[in-house]
Amino acid sequence: MTYGNPMTNSANGTSDFTRPLPARVPRESYAPLSLYAPDRPAVQHDLSDNTNQWGTPPSALAAVQSVSAESLLQYPSQPSVPLLEAIARFAAVDSTDAVVTGCGSDDLLDCIMRALAEPGDRIVASWPSFTMIPYFARTNGLEPVLVPYNADWDVDADALLAARARITYLCAPNNPTGAGIRRETVERVLAEAEGIVVLDEAYAEFARDSFIDIAPTHGRLIVTRTMSKAFGLAGVRVGYGVGAPALVREIEKARGPYKVTTPSELAATAALTQDVPWMRQHAAEAVTQREWLRGELVRLGLTPLPSQANFLLVPVADAARIAGYVADRGILLRAFRGLPIVGDALRITVAPTAVMERCVSLIAEALA
Ligand SMILES: *Cc1c(COP(=O)(O)O)cnc(C)c1O
Repeated sequence: MTYGNPMTNSANGTSDFTRPLPARVPRESYAPLSLYAPDRPAVQHDLSDNTNQWGTPPSALAAVQSVSAESLLQYPSQPSVPLLEAIARFAAVDSTDAVVTGCGSDDLLDCIMRALAEPGDRIVASWPSFTMIPYFARTNGLEPVLVPYNADWDVDADALLAARARITYLCAPNNPTGAGIRRETVERVLAEAEGIVVLDEAYAEFARDSFIDIAPTHGRLIVTRTMSKAFGLAGVRVGYGVGAPALVREIEKARGPYKVTTPSELAATAALTQDVPWMRQHAAEAVTQREWLRGELVRLGLTPLPSQANFLLVPVADAARIAGYVADRGILLRAFRGLPIVGDALRITVAPTAVMERCVSLIAEALA
């Protein structure tokens, strides 16, 4: 069987692949973008990604192991009703029409930009925040506007609103700082922003507050969540969004039909129906470990930022050197250079006691 070549419209199907690229390929606006390639040496403990250091839900593992040959032969179900229903139940959303899934919440954020903004529109975010936001903004032809946080780590609502952006991105708890956003601040942005508000709740399971309950009826709010962090399924690549059905339909247009694979659908559905108590127990342990870690870092003379997530951001002089020292001894941390307000910093994912103790002693050695 021969396949039509998508690069040519010629009736006889001759290939254009040997000819040089046309002058306007690649896109000019892609030239300054670099590929997302975290420096990830093989280590014993990867505390660089905020994944669940207590493991993976047993039901999800069993679901992946039981995938049949027949089910791999077919396309995944579309829409995936069991997964949508499991998400709706977990998130206490009345209708699956208010839920959209994606290949991780990264994919949803990308689809949201493509579906709800035109090229040339602005997307505004507080900074520092999730690095993929300006990246996806650029790949979708949007102009990212990044406004600094207030000195007390609340978002600067005046500056966000003044951008009059088509999309306002909020992240709470925020990556990489861990900061939450005061409820009144989110409410003000929701009331006054002119366009769509995206609230990224990738770490909601560790936090006190969420806006997912109002998302289906608000009309301009989309809340995104992920199975990658508290649920311990980053490799499965399932994220979801909740918003008004009219918005969800548009996002689905940008997403296309088959973004969640059959094994992923089964794993995420199993975790959401059988292992919510597993997730909650480990999320609670993570919060306890986080505060233990904070105490230890303070004893070393460091000043970690307040966090509502499963990680701490710790300003340090020369983060790369300390991270290198610790990585050489088996624990990977994320080093940031020159963040606004913070400067150099380490982001440390919390883990069970033995790993945290080792991590603290390695940081102490590196500082000495
Ligand atoms: C990790 C993360 C995501 C993306 O997670 P996926 O694995 O793509 O679901 C989204 N937003 C924030 C803030 C994150 O930290």
